Amino acid sequence: MPRTPFIAGNWKMNTVKATAIELAKAIVKGAPKAGVDVGVAPPFVYLDAVGQAITGSGVLLGAQDVYFEKNGAFTGEVSTDMLKDLGVKFVLTGHSERRHVIGESGALVGKKAAAAYAAGLIVVHCVGEKLEERDGGKTLQVVQAQLEELGNNMNDASKIVIAYEPVWAIGTGRNATDEQAQEVHGYIRQALAKRWNKDFADRVRIQYGGSMKPENAKGLLNQPDVDGGLIGGASLKADSFLAIVNAAL
Ligand code: PEP
Repeated sequence: MPRTPFIAGNWKMNTVKATAIELAKAIVKGAPKAGVDVGVAPPFVYLDAVGQAITGSGVLLGAQDVYFEKNGAFTGEVSTDMLKDLGVKFVLTGHSERRHVIGESGALVGKKAAAAYAAGLIVVHCVGEKLEERDGGKTLQVVQAQLEELGNNMNDASKIVIAYEPVWAIGTGRNATDEQAQEVHGYIRQALAKRWNKDFADRVRIQYGGSMKPENAKGLLNQPDVDGGLIGGASLKADSFLAIVNAAL
């Protein structure tokens, strides 16, 4: 089952307006026209400006988070309608920094994923174990529980992307080996097949995230169940991000 690889940049709380626009334009200029899906997730406040900079390019606009309620008294939160209004196509749910730094529970992450899916957005659902969980042999159990945050009705495979991001590899410079990544990606695909069905599992793209960079991208992306990457640090420079994008071709 051929799956178009999807490389997405998570800019986190980085850039100012001018550098966000500059980075977006450089990515548009260098991104291949076919063979790989490319996306960028700037900070909320620059979604509009970045959306304008990438208009008509095929580069997908993403949001780093979303709230599950439609509207109302939720100070500081951002709804799916607001994101769609700005041309957002995909949303990250359950990023490790939201889970472990901000303190989001699995229940909250699940509600956000459900709201984004119901709104027709592509849900990039992030899963991954902490170092002590890996050392304690709990990796697959943790990932399984995080996959269960997705609802049974979320069965349009084109709208679901799983990002396997071992917490110990995010922003640390220490990536999972090709074999470690493939082991968990293969497990995730089996888990999706069990919960939904094989056809669904074969279509869902599973990104790897965690210190992916030009030097290690090819090996990771060559694994049979690695269908792209969610890139943090290396997405903040157009050259390194585009080198990873090209490694996916
Ligand atoms: C991320 O934040 O999703 C990520 C993978 O970060 P980094 O590439 O910097 O490890």
